[in-house]
Parts: sequence; C-alpha cells; structure tokens
Amino acid sequence: MAAAPMMGGQPTNQGYGATSAVDTPTFQGDIPGEDVAENPNAQPSQPTAPSLDQLQAVSGYEAVSFNEGSAIPPPSYAEAVTPQAAPTMNTAVPRVTEEQARAALLDHVSQNCCYGKSAAQDLVFTSIEPSSAFHYTLETFGESRSTSWAMEPYMGQPIDTAMTGPAPGPWDISAEPRTLFNSESRHVEVPHTASIKPCHNCFARGHIRCHHCHGRGRVRCNSCHGSGHKRVHRDGQQHQEHCNWCHGHGRKRCFVCHGHGQIGCPVCSRQGNVKWYIRLTIKWENHKSDHVVERTSLPGHLIAGAQGQLAFRDEQFRVAPVNNFPEPAVNQASQQLVGQHTGNYFNSERVLKQRHQVRIVPVATAHYQWKNSLSQFWVFGFENRVYAPDYPQKCCCGCTIL
Ligand SMILES: [Zn+2]
Ligand SMILES: [Zn+2]
Ligand SMILES: [Zn+2]
Repeated sequence: MAAAPMMGGQPTNQGYGATSAVDTPTFQGDIPGEDVAENPNAQPSQPTAPSLDQLQAVSGYEAVSFNEGSAIPPPSYAEAVTPQAAPTMNTAVPRVTEEQARAALLDHVSQNCCYGKSAAQDLVFTSIEPSSAFHYTLETFGESRSTSWAMEPYMGQPIDTAMTGPAPGPWDISAEPRTLFNSESRHVEVPHTASIKPCHNCFARGHIRCHHCHGRGRVRCNSCHGSGHKRVHRDGQQHQEHCNWCHGHGRKRCFVCHGHGQIGCPVCSRQGNVKWYIRLTIKWENHKSDHVVERTSLPGHLIAGAQGQLAFRDEQFRVAPVNNFPEPAVNQASQQLVGQHTGNYFNSERVLKQRHQVRIVPVATAHYQWKNSLSQFWVFGFENRVYAPDYPQKCCCGCTIL
C-alpha cells in the first residue's frame, strides 16, 4: 500500500523560478505547430481534477468526496438537564440625580461639536423617572464535523495507511477546543486513511506544459510580429531593419520556462507523487442570542451595549430556561431562546456547553422644561450614557437657537 509508484520521467527541478536557460525545449507532450504570441499576462491553467476511482474506499467513509460534505450528525448523547438552582439576584440599581443627569447631558453636548450648551445648562427638570432595562443573553457552544478527501505533495513524509488498522469514525477522533464559547475550526487527518498515488495533474512526470509558450520554449516576437525585421522611415525613404528585440530571429526564448517548454507541477511540487488522505474538519461555533426588555422609548440596542449589573448567570451542559426572574418578560425571552437553540443546534451539532445571563441596566427618563417647551432625554447604563434625540440646540449656526 505504502509503495510509491513512480511513473513517467524523473521529476525536474525547473519551475516558475528556474534560472538555467536552454535552447532546446524538453517538454514531451502535445505542442502546437507554430510559435504562440508572447503574452505576459498568460495564466497557468487550473490543475486537473482527479478521479474518485483512483482512491481506495475507506470503510466508514464511502461517501466522502473532494468537497467538504455537510455536517455528520453527532452520535446520540445523554441530555443531562440539571435542575436550576434559584439564582441569587441583585436587582437594586443606582438612581440618577438631577446633578448627574445634567452633567451627563453637558458631556453629551460637548461631544457633538454643533450642539449649543446653554439649553443643557439652563433647563429645569420637572421629574426624573428611574426604571430598569434587562438584557438576557444565551450562548450555545457546539461542535460539528465533516470530511473530505484531501491531498498534499508526497515528499517522503510518513504515511499512515490502512495497513496499521481500520480508520476510526469521525466522532471517535478526540479533539478539544482551545477555549469554550470561542468559535474556531481545525483540520485533522483521519488516521489510517493515507495512500500515495501518482500525481493526476502531471501524470507523475513532476512537470507540466508551460502555459506561456505551450511547450515550444519560444514565443513569437511581438515587436516585429515574427518577421525579424521592421520598416522604418528615414530621409524620406523606407528602410528594412533588424528587430532589436529578437535580434532578427522573430522569436524569443520564453521567460516563464526559460526555454524548457515545461514548468514544475504545482499540485505535487514537482515530486510526481501525492499523498491522499481523508481530512476531518472540526468546527466549534458559539451561537449567541440575546433579548432586551426595555419599557421606555429608549432604543433596545443601546441597552445591549451599555454597562449594567449582572443579576444572574448560569453555565451548564444544557441550561434550563430562566423561570423565576422577577420580570416575567425575561422568563419569556429565556423560554423562547432556549427552545430555539434546542431546535437549531442539539441535533446537528454536539453541544459542549451552554450559558446564559441577565444584566440589569439602569435607565432614567429625565423630563424637563426649557424656554416654553417640555421635552425629555434618557440617561442609561452605569457609565451614564445619554440619548437625547430631541435636544433643542442641535445646530450652533443659529437655526434653532433662540
Ligand atoms: Zn522581433
Ligand atoms: Zn514557456
Ligand atoms: Zn504533479
């Protein structure tokens, strides 16, 4: 099994970066009858695709193709639902005073260069209503696995063939993520699936026809169109002159293959043989969902980014929905998202861990009077962020300043 079949000629060393130039091409395959036009932009052709028939089927991996297949369902595993201990909840949040609200607003105004600050200085608070917003987050950390045939140049590296034992199943190969709740992916060679085959791209020759000269080692001179000379006008007459670019030959040595007509095979790195094996792709993915419960007109997405207080946190193989939080909307959101994650991830992936938490973010709605108008703004988060869409002095050029 492990013997390396060598067919065709000896691998050659010239490649894209070869230096020794020759006058006689050595390429043995199909060559066009005439020089091809020089084209500095000619691109190498795509490597040929191998045939699946060349590869021995591996027991348990009969359906593996060259493309990464869909995820392989994980083996069934115990769904240990740990009864949820009553979480310790700290729902007391700080209140915002008038001084703090005004200071936060002045700070907000100073960050907007066009805003006038006299309104923030002079406005009169009519009331400040404290409230609490809740930010619930659920994370499900799962693992999925898929397989495909993969290859690399064979350069004499150790080969783990079927001779050393049957290939383990995709879920029998142990692999640990670096950290929980962080997405990452990894490729692993499935043990006992490797074999050495002649390169399908170069038929084990180690080199392929040059894409620039099509194997001729020469290209037609673009300057004289292959004639070796050109006409020039001088002293009112036409003269014929040697082409300086090709020294009158009409053709030039190919600069890609330096006259060899062939270049190193990129698939086998000029080795002639490739190692085939079944590659397992392991993906760890952290699925995160969240929900904001916010009763005022403050946009919910602002709450998600604001600092708050952790009221509850739990981490389990599988979490139970929160059901005893003082705010029923949080229990509802938890019920819904935990159900969603169960449906979405527990069948297609092996779930390694779940965690969820509730943060409480303080929100103060500050009502005020300025000149003859009544309005409001919001102060939220432990860092006292401000949301003031109706601030009366948004333009300093005089348009709204009275
Ligand atoms: Zn020329
Ligand atoms: Zn060439
Ligand atoms: Zn090759």
